[in-house]
Amino acid sequence: MTCKICKTETERIFDTKIMNKYKVDYSYCRNCGFLQTEESYWLTEAYKNPINLSDTGYLQRNIFLSKKVTILLFFFFDKNKKFLDYGGGYGVFVRLMRDIGFDFYWSDKYTQNIFARGFEYNDSIKNDIEAVTCFEAFEHFVNPLEEIEKMLSISKNIIFTTELLPQPIPKPEDWWYYGLEHGQHISFYSKKTFNFIANKYSLNYSNLGSLHIFSQKRISNFKLKILKFTKFGLHKFIQKQLKSKIWEDHLKMSNNNETNIFAHQNIY
Ligand SMILES: [Zn+2]
Repeated sequence: MTCKICKTETERIFDTKIMNKYKVDYSYCRNCGFLQTEESYWLTEAYKNPINLSDTGYLQRNIFLSKKVTILLFFFFDKNKKFLDYGGGYGVFVRLMRDIGFDFYWSDKYTQNIFARGFEYNDSIKNDIEAVTCFEAFEHFVNPLEEIEKMLSISKNIIFTTELLPQPIPKPEDWWYYGLEHGQHISFYSKKTFNFIANKYSLNYSNLGSLHIFSQKRISNFKLKILKFTKFGLHKFIQKQLKSKIWEDHLKMSNNNETNIFAHQNIY
């Protein structure tokens, strides 16, 4: 099997059962450190529920990330521009970031937007997007490079999370992130993989734990450590300097509704 990232030949390293029924091969690329499953024929079944049932950390993760990303955007990016949450799920993260004061938009091919309605991304704001965020999605990508290229066509800054593939590579039963019970995780990356990708697109790669950044400007891993200051409430201090969009969005959405009602009345 050819590596989806660097196109060299991979090596089958183990097989295991996913969703309690399909025996699946996992292949590792020694050239770029990427681990991939065999062609994923089981995904339609795996995605019957897009946000998988065992993902109990969904809300906690979104709140946690909103604090980190607040610090990140404030110090390293143009906070007054627009942002896109790619693969934004139910829209929880977009709503949280708008509450804090960032002009965030939503897009997702697979999930219904519930919390960020009215803030769907469209191509007319493409040139205003300072950075794209993409959380817990890279491990789901069937064609990682295609997805990355789509994001890069919107912004050259991508902030994302995925767990790094540990070394040595864990056995199937020894790493929860393989997600064998739901079958949705099919792509696993190491730092080497991300460095390869950054190099391919002439970007910088920086990393703090499971948070990764591809960016035009170099952000040193050392400076990224400032994100740990959520412990001391740094995000709260920043939030005081921003203007929450809760009320502004409320007014905007109420006006839209009135327009809709009037438009509706005109029909009759
Ligand atoms: Zn490779």
